[in-house]
Amino acid sequence: MAEAGRIFVGTPAARLDPISGEGAPFAIRTAILAAAVLTHDGPAAEAIDYYQQRILTSFLSHLSGCQTFYADAFFLDADWQLELRKSGIARSVLEPVLRTSDGMAPELRLEGLSLVAAKETASG
Ligand SMILES: Cc1cc2nc3c(=O)[nH]c(=O)nc-3n(C[C@H](O)[C@H](O)[C@H](O)COP(=O)(O)OP(=O)(O)OC[C@H]3O[C@@H](n4cnc5c(N)ncnc54)[C@H](O)[C@@H]3O)c2cc1C
Repeated sequence: MAEAGRIFVGTPAARLDPISGEGAPFAIRTAILAAAVLTHDGPAAEAIDYYQQRILTSFLSHLSGCQTFYADAFFLDADWQLELRKSGIARSVLEPVLRTSDGMAPELRLEGLSLVAAKETASG
C-alpha cells in the first residue's frame, strides 16, 4: 500500500468489489489521504503507518459489508457462497494484522488536507 518513495491509491491500494459501489469514493479518499501523507511535517514512517492502518480498516469494513449484503442477497447461490468463504478467510488473515500493529499506530488523524496529532486541532 505504501513504502518509502511509493504510495498506492484507489484500486492498487485495495481492490474493492465493483458491485458494492464503494470503489470511486475509496479512490478519492485514498488520494486525499495520500496527498496528506506526502506533505506530512513529521516522520514519513508514522504517516505511512497511519495510511496503511486506514486502508486496512477501510478494506476490512468493506469486506464485512459485502459479506452481510451477499449473505442476504445470494444465500442460495453456490458461487456466492464460495465468495463469502473467501471473504471470511481474507478477514481472518487481515484482522490480526490490524490488531497487532494497532498498538504501535501513530496518533494521527486527517484534518483538512493535513495529518495532525490526534489530540491537536487546527488552531493548535
Ligand atoms: C463494471 C464496473 C462497475 C463499477 N461501478 C462502480 C460504481 O457504481 N460505483 C463506484 O463507486 N465504483 C464502481 N466501480 C469501481 C470503480 O470504477 C473503481 O473502484 C475506481 O474507478 C478506481 O479508481 P482508480 O483511480 O483506482 O482506478 P481507475 O479509475 O481504473 O483509473 C486508473 C487510470 O489510470 C490509467 N492508467 C493505467 N495505467 C496507466 C499508465 N501506465 N500510464 C498512465 N495512465 C495509466 C487508466 O487508463 C485509468 O484511467 C465499478 C467498476 C467496474 C469494473
